[in-house]
Amino acid sequence: MTTQVPMLINGEFIESQSSDKQDVINPATQAVLAHVPFSTPEEIDQAVAGAKAAFQEWRNTPVPKRARLMLEYQHLLKAHQREIAEILAEDNGKNLEDAMGDVWRGIEVVEHACNIPTLLMGETVENVASGVDTYSLVQPLGVTLGITPFNFPAMIPLWMFPMAVACGNAMILKPSEQVPLATVRLLELFQQAGAPAGIVQMIHGGKEQVDQLINHPDIVASSFVGSVPVAEHVYRSTTNLLKRSQCFAGAKNHMVVMPDADKETVMNTLVGSTVGAAGQRCMAISVIVFVGDTIEWAGELADRLKRIRPGVWNDPEAAFGPLVSKTATQRVKGLIQSGIDQGATCVIDGRDIKVEGYPDGNWVGPTLFTDVTTDMDIYREEIFGPVVCCINADDLDDALRIVNNSPYGNGTSIFTTSGVNARRYQHEVEVGQVGVNIPIPVPLPFFSFTGWKKSFMGDLHAYGKQAVRFYSETKTVTTAWKETRVSAPNMSIALK
Ligand code: NAD
Repeated sequence: MTTQVPMLINGEFIESQSSDKQDVINPATQAVLAHVPFSTPEEIDQAVAGAKAAFQEWRNTPVPKRARLMLEYQHLLKAHQREIAEILAEDNGKNLEDAMGDVWRGIEVVEHACNIPTLLMGETVENVASGVDTYSLVQPLGVTLGITPFNFPAMIPLWMFPMAVACGNAMILKPSEQVPLATVRLLELFQQAGAPAGIVQMIHGGKEQVDQLINHPDIVASSFVGSVPVAEHVYRSTTNLLKRSQCFAGAKNHMVVMPDADKETVMNTLVGSTVGAAGQRCMAISVIVFVGDTIEWAGELADRLKRIRPGVWNDPEAAFGPLVSKTATQRVKGLIQSGIDQGATCVIDGRDIKVEGYPDGNWVGPTLFTDVTTDMDIYREEIFGPVVCCINADDLDDALRIVNNSPYGNGTSIFTTSGVNARRYQHEVEVGQVGVNIPIPVPLPFFSFTGWKKSFMGDLHAYGKQAVRFYSETKTVTTAWKETRVSAPNMSIALK
């Protein structure tokens, strides 16, 4: 019998009463791993009510105690890193090395949350007027909402609930219905670390459940990671209710290759950063802007991409895994066809790749296009598959113009040995995360994850100091402790 993915409500992992459900599938074999319920409206109400009650106590829990919960959790996550990686490799499909990285980058956020006492420090100015001092307090918001995508089943939930909870909030987590299994394990370990019952609740589902949560009067803020159309919906519907929201969305990341770059470094870097994780990373390089004659390097890149292949997660020879679903596979293959139809040169076409022993997997092999123009669908759309577009730019000015004309602004990189070029690029490019000789510049959690333009809606980003501000209110207190009494009415608003 197929097991049901449990919800977490008030400290108990329980089965949903819903008859509405979806299979959780291994994308390399199509084996059904479990089924995920779409939580009922009553279950969602129960989860929010429980979180609200847990928040009342948690908000008064001493901050060092909250930090100690995170220390214990970090320890448990490290001890169980491989087990979590194997769970998420089953439903997401990514290979073990990459799955280990998925968990690790989440652990780093928990490490950041261990520093919560210093992160919550306010500001003080003594003597803002005679005998008057002002200081700020940083206080939690209440019950927050986290909605996560399929492509980082450990890292992205860990972007959200540890920071929200360390700041003193409760959170309702709604993992991707395609890959909910790792989140269950993450939350079991969080309970084991000593998290109070109800402080994080997990429900399952899709649009209906998300909409009910956003509209719930006791939900005060939403954090979302996923595709652009859904991000726009979540951002608009949350902020329309005058609640705060941060929505991380799709991308099209360009890497600029300057003629003075080290060719061997560029080639090796591009193999992993373009088709790694089957291109299902919001920071994957999907467009290479070859400057000047470096466009000739595209042929050598194609040779290297031909040498790697996808495979099942525990195949050590596999460079990456399958696409997450049949629907995603059809979409990616359709976009490859559109590239051919619209006149790009398909140097390698990965559509017919076979993986021995896994005839039913959602396989797409490395695919490389040259002669791509910016009006083609393969350039304009986020493909989210192992498909690379090569564009030729005349010089750095031309490359900057191309990158800055893209509506997306998640990540970009430049490969060069010239500090002058690198500095100009980092200064002028209109993208929120820039790598210089680093292909995928995802910041460590003491910075924030700062996508721009269509890749992000909101103003305060994930982790770093910005997450603390997102999950907190600032209260500013002004006090007068004077030896003298107020001896006459003061009709002015000015402090003296
Ligand atoms: P998705 O938008 O399909 O789903 C994301 C979440 O939203 C899921 O939990 C899903 O159940 C929920 N959802 C789906 N439709 C909804 C609707 N109509 N209303 C409300 N909720 C809905 O995204 P996905 O396919 O799971 O993830 C891939 C996308 O995520 C890519 O576009 C990728 O670039 C993006 N992503 C962005 C970042 C970033 O930091 N910018 C990071 C990772 C992934």
